[in-house]
Amino acid sequence: MRNSSIPSLMPVYNRIDLVFERGEGSWLFDRRGKAYLDFGSGIAVTGLGHCHPHLVKALQEQAAKLWHVSNLYRIEQQEKLADRLVANSFAETVFVCNSGAEAIEGCIKLVRRYWWAKGRPERTKIVTFEGAFHGRTMAAISAAGSKKLTEGCEPLLPGFEILPFGDHAALERAIGPETAAVLVEPIQGEGGIRPVPASCLQALRELCDRQGCLLVFDEVQTGMGRTGKLFAHEAFGVRPDVVAIAKGLGGGFPIGAFMATAEAASGMTAGAHGSTFGGNPLACAVANAVLDVMLAEGFLDQVAAKGALFKRRVEEVAARLGGAIQEVRGLGLMVGIKTARPNGEVAAELRAAGLLTVPAADNVLRLLPPLTISEAEIEQGCAILAETLRAKAA
Ligand SMILES: *Cc1c(COP(=O)(O)O)cnc(C)c1O
Repeated sequence: MRNSSIPSLMPVYNRIDLVFERGEGSWLFDRRGKAYLDFGSGIAVTGLGHCHPHLVKALQEQAAKLWHVSNLYRIEQQEKLADRLVANSFAETVFVCNSGAEAIEGCIKLVRRYWWAKGRPERTKIVTFEGAFHGRTMAAISAAGSKKLTEGCEPLLPGFEILPFGDHAALERAIGPETAAVLVEPIQGEGGIRPVPASCLQALRELCDRQGCLLVFDEVQTGMGRTGKLFAHEAFGVRPDVVAIAKGLGGGFPIGAFMATAEAASGMTAGAHGSTFGGNPLACAVANAVLDVMLAEGFLDQVAAKGALFKRRVEEVAARLGGAIQEVRGLGLMVGIKTARPNGEVAAELRAAGLLTVPAADNVLRLLPPLTISEAEIEQGCAILAETLRAKAA
């Protein structure tokens, strides 16, 4: 029933008053036909740009054949997706779900079941980090712990110990015989494109090995080619036990997954987990089409090369502006700029100038162009960045 005190859409987002009508490659078009260069990619989701012809074709063909059957039955598209993720990663087994938070939930259940199956059900503690973001479910907000996410939602799920970011001594103290797992983003996304130094991740792997606890990477944002490798942990040279992915996996179609070694997944037996929608033929057909593109010879090498060029260009812009951009960080096509002025203000100016970015914590603006971006579009985006920030500094 209509009630004028609340909009019909629950008002949980601070939405920008802008409606996009159409997307093509790196570009979005609003209702008046104004073009925007999309360095947001729907928050690292449309990794192959908008309406990639190969993805459109896969979706349309599958849509005309079969959308959904239950996981009561074998689903060949899901089997193919899992086979390919296994063939191209550390993982030996995969569960397909619908979103990032759901993948994180699954990882947490896998970790708990691992120790339960080993006869150590008391080994439940999961170590996480301040500034993390793992999604919006109760387990995911409990794992991240920030007040912004958890306020009003208590009681939280117990069993998480949240450590300061980059404090190795605290890690040494926290990881003990009661620790079940460590859950970490190799590069914090919402936290402001904060990479964990490779040496820290390597030391973390050693700490986990010493205590036998599982190392879980949240690669929901860093995965699927974003850093120039299929998964960011490859770039850091650290082997995980479990990895959550989502965002880029479906190129805009909702799908997530968690992947694990056989050992880590030893508690995931029949009946341990499930999902109605997870891994249905339509979602998996699209995710397979994403992999067709990403696994093609040379594609990820090109992403790495474009990422290096992009970061160099953004660093040059920052150097020329002298202070408007205080720091440039990130890897591949996942770059963050820490702005001197409030990041939301800068994002609005860039948007007006036709460049879309995504604000993050720590007064950072995220630049997450599609992996298919051209060098010319990189130059164009950096020119808008330079002009807009220079105009405001003058
Ligand atoms: C976006 C994100 C999530 C949550 O994904 P949803 O699909 O929104 O549930 C979890 N972890 C990280 C690192 C993310 O960036």
